[in-house]
This record gives sequence, structure tokens and C-alpha cells, in this order.
Amino acid sequence: MSFHAVNMNEPAARWSASAGSDQIAIGVAKVAKPYIPYDGPVVTRDEARATGLKRYFDNSPCARGHVAERYVATAACLGCGRENARACNKIRKTKNPERWATIRKAWDASNRDKLNVQARDWRANNPEKAKAYCAKYYAENRAQLQAAGRAYHHANREWQNKKSRE
Ligand SMILES: [Zn+2]
Repeated sequence: MSFHAVNMNEPAARWSASAGSDQIAIGVAKVAKPYIPYDGPVVTRDEARATGLKRYFDNSPCARGHVAERYVATAACLGCGRENARACNKIRKTKNPERWATIRKAWDASNRDKLNVQARDWRANNPEKAKAYCAKYYAENRAQLQAAGRAYHHANREWQNKKSRE
């Protein structure tokens, strides 16, 4: 037989690496992770079943055109599963935005270091986009930012005056 034993951990790791979160908030901007198609060994459903594997890959596109691993039990494509989950999350988010925002905020808070590094990397790799985003943000929030600037200036002037009086 031409196919070699599939390490079950390996395709799973590959999958989660591409499916984990393809939209990562990096500070103020978002970047999409590229879709990495499965490039592991070809294992037919029968071969996988015979060796007790839970997933197989026969290199054939699903109805939606994914060339991805499939579950032995249902022949369902993992790419479809991923899309369905995403669509489902989208509906959940619109139905209960407050709840989603809370979850998101908590996740962001516990991954702050990771997000900061990602944001820094993204800005370093996309200086033009970062600049454009910054300009856009400023244009859209000009009044607010100017007010904040004035407030800061005012607060510091007070503090400095107080300092010099002492
Ligand atoms: Zn599919």
C-alpha cells in the first residue's frame, strides 16, 4: 500500500493552525490569516476506516470546493465545518452583541501580550496600511481626539501651575 500511517496529531495540528482564528484583532486593525489547504498524505476513506483513523483525505473537492480532510464517519468536509461554525458565530454575534463583546473583551485582556506583539509585527510589515488606518481613524474621530488633547493639555497646565505655586 502506498499510503503511510498517518500521525493523527499532525493533521490536527495543521488544521488548528489554520482554523484557530483567521481574523485576529491586532490593536485597531485586522489581518486575515491565509487559508492553508491540507497537503498531507492521501488516505482513502476505506484505508482510514481500516486503520481506525477518524479523518481521511482523498484529494477530492467537496460540494463547496474545499480540498480538505473529511471525517470518516460522515464524509463531511472539515472546511465546510469551519465555514458553518463561522456562519453560526456570526449569527450568534448579531443576536447577542453584548455577550459576544464581553467574551471578546475577556479574551483580548488575557491575550494582551500576544495581541501587542501581533499588532507591532503587523505595523512593521504594513507601514503604509498602518499609516492610512491611522489617518482614517484621526479623520473620523477628529473632534473627539482634539477635545481629548485639549483636556490633557488643560489638566497638565493645572498640574504644572499647582506645582509652581508650591
Ligand atoms: Zn467543504
